[in-house]
Amino acid sequence: MSAVRTDVKAPAFDVERIRGDFPILKLEIGGKPLVYLDNAASSQMPQPVIDRLVRYQTTQHANIHRAVHTLSEVATAEYEEARRKLARFINAREEREVIFTSGTTDSINLVMHGFGRKFIGAGDEIILSTLEHHSNIVPWQMLAEEKGAKIRVAPIDDAGELQSGEYEALFNPRTKFVAVTHVSNALGTITPVRQMIAHARARGVPVMVDGAQAAPHLTVDVQDLDCDFYAFSGHKLCGPTGIGILYGKAATLERMQPFKGGGDMILSVTFEKTTYNTIPHKFEAGTPPIAAAIGLGAAVDYLSAIGMDAIAAHERHLLEYATAAFSRMAGVRIVGTAANKAAVLSFVVAGVHPHDVGTLLNQYGVAVRTGHHCAQPVMQRFGLPATSRASFAFYNTIAEIDALVDGIRNVQKILA
Ligand SMILES: *Cc1c(COP(=O)(O)O)cnc(C)c1O
Repeated sequence: MSAVRTDVKAPAFDVERIRGDFPILKLEIGGKPLVYLDNAASSQMPQPVIDRLVRYQTTQHANIHRAVHTLSEVATAEYEEARRKLARFINAREEREVIFTSGTTDSINLVMHGFGRKFIGAGDEIILSTLEHHSNIVPWQMLAEEKGAKIRVAPIDDAGELQSGEYEALFNPRTKFVAVTHVSNALGTITPVRQMIAHARARGVPVMVDGAQAAPHLTVDVQDLDCDFYAFSGHKLCGPTGIGILYGKAATLERMQPFKGGGDMILSVTFEKTTYNTIPHKFEAGTPPIAAAIGLGAAVDYLSAIGMDAIAAHERHLLEYATAAFSRMAGVRIVGTAANKAAVLSFVVAGVHPHDVGTLLNQYGVAVRTGHHCAQPVMQRFGLPATSRASFAFYNTIAEIDALVDGIRNVQKILA
């Protein structure tokens, strides 16, 4: 008989050790310790990623895929190794399904040009949701305008939850594409994207998921999701700016037109005819951001070593603590109260413009976002011009949320 052991506990999430990896978190802003709560706009970079960029730049840099000299071979191998790391991070079946882009916006535009312009025509319909970031709206509007296609929008309720029944009711034989966010950057809502994809796929409709806010917070498994495309940015994932990925199913990518023409995306060129390269190179015209791709590889190594499940658990704790604290404050209203949320807290303070909330909080060292968060349809849904938004990362602490709450109390004392 074995006794149940109560003395063994999972190791606690050591947030102080993790913070030690992020040099920028030691900064003071106007004499106050930086409380960085704008992670949904861009996250900070840990020392191992900074070191990786320096090592590449000091000992490995050359152009890739082009020369037989040693440095070029090293750079090519490191760049392709980064692609393998990203493929593993999202559980892609094959590494050629990972295309390096300059970020989520670029990835979505690639899908619009490469897939949309080829397969979506007059009278066809594209389904989006109210929760979309502008970068998952505007490219589809441009396509709809060019082709005479139509945009349909899946609505949200007062909590900011996507309405699955109404989403499903939008489908008809003209539905040709679904582009939907996994996590709302403005509200934090996690959408029921797996069921939404299943519904679309059962009707032969391809789905692109905007994962810009999901990849930093959740374990993403593109095979489990079974989406055709998945996009995210490096700079929201502790990596550099100017890099992101587009995951695409190999068979779908093979059918697509290249978006950009140039070097590296071809097999042969004459003035009569060009033969395109195989995937993923077909979609990576010109010299890519080699250093940034390698840095992003280091970033996903860093996150994987901590563990996305541990990250999600810590952030859930922060969100629950902050939500409870905000709920106790008179005159403060949380915008976006979905049951299933990532670590984003949008809020309004009665009688104070969000811009003034942000400006005053900055005087206490607290960095939050204010505005429409590139998601004006979400703001319109709630009848608001703007909100303030605190967005948490795994390196944030309960003490920082206390600083935010104290800051808001001061804002209320001064302005409300
Ligand atoms: C940030 C963001 C984007 C755009 O990402 P970029 O890095 O600016 O290209 C798209 N969608 C969502 C949900 C985002 O949060």
